[in-house]
Amino acid sequence: MKPKMLTSAVMVALMLGAYELPLAAQGNGAQNGQLQIVGGTLTEQDKTDLQYLQEEEKLARDVYLTLLAKWNLVVFQNISESEQRHTDTALELLTAYQIPTLAQTEVGKFHNPTLQTLYNDLISRGAQNTSEALLVGALVEEVDIADLQKMLSVTKNIDLINSYTKLMLASYRHLNSFVSLWKNQTGSTSYKAQVLSQTEVDKIISCSPLTVNSNLQVHIPNLKYKNLNLWATLDYTPNQTNQYVFQVTDYGLNLGATNCTSATLAPLDLSLKTPQATFKHQPSNDGKLYFSLDKYTP
Ligand code: ZN
Ligand code: ZN
Repeated sequence: MKPKMLTSAVMVALMLGAYELPLAAQGNGAQNGQLQIVGGTLTEQDKTDLQYLQEEEKLARDVYLTLLAKWNLVVFQNISESEQRHTDTALELLTAYQIPTLAQTEVGKFHNPTLQTLYNDLISRGAQNTSEALLVGALVEEVDIADLQKMLSVTKNIDLINSYTKLMLASYRHLNSFVSLWKNQTGSTSYKAQVLSQTEVDKIISCSPLTVNSNLQVHIPNLKYKNLNLWATLDYTPNQTNQYVFQVTDYGLNLGATNCTSATLAPLDLSLKTPQATFKHQPSNDGKLYFSLDKYTP
């Protein structure tokens, strides 16, 4: 591994001026050990999906670690750390639901033969040159998105819906990062979809709007704060009042399309403005960041 590289966590902290932004959540993607498990039942399909997902996230991590060692591109450092957290998220779910893990610990080794073949192919393709390596990154993310969409369409379990949604949105960001870098490097203006449909890829790599899932989890892909382009996930927090309160559960620096804005966080009063709603910052003493819905225009 290359010694002089700042970890992405440190870079994000430096760029955010972490001391100014009172966010409890740090990082890129779901956080280790902090999943809030609601519980419920899983179908056999859910169980198989979860086992597969853990290996798939590990594949992403292993591909990026291997390409990092080969090409020393910082994007592989940042995103492999994110994939480590995704693998951990899947493991946490497996553990919580008492499902055995099939993942092997060694980098580049997989229980599932399809993933093993995919890994081997991607490594040899990515070894050709950095432009191919970035396209391999984009392909991994497209595969992830396609599989997560399938898994989301069949599961009814709240924990899985929440985690799958987060992982899918992370893959959107990663796809954006790889495609932006590939475009910069090659001077190419159009990226050709490798797994998903071209329409879908174009939608993901253009400015995506804010989304709300069925559990009222809000995802802001491009949150403008001072001169930074962040992303953030807010979870609806049921409470005694009749206010809609949301907690920031995750955020990070968005490395993708920087000229997009889906919401703005005001530096002075930390009010959060989206095209349809305004949220007020709710002071709290638990170190977490809360917003309550102030105005809503459908
Ligand atoms: Zn991932
Ligand atoms: Zn990813």
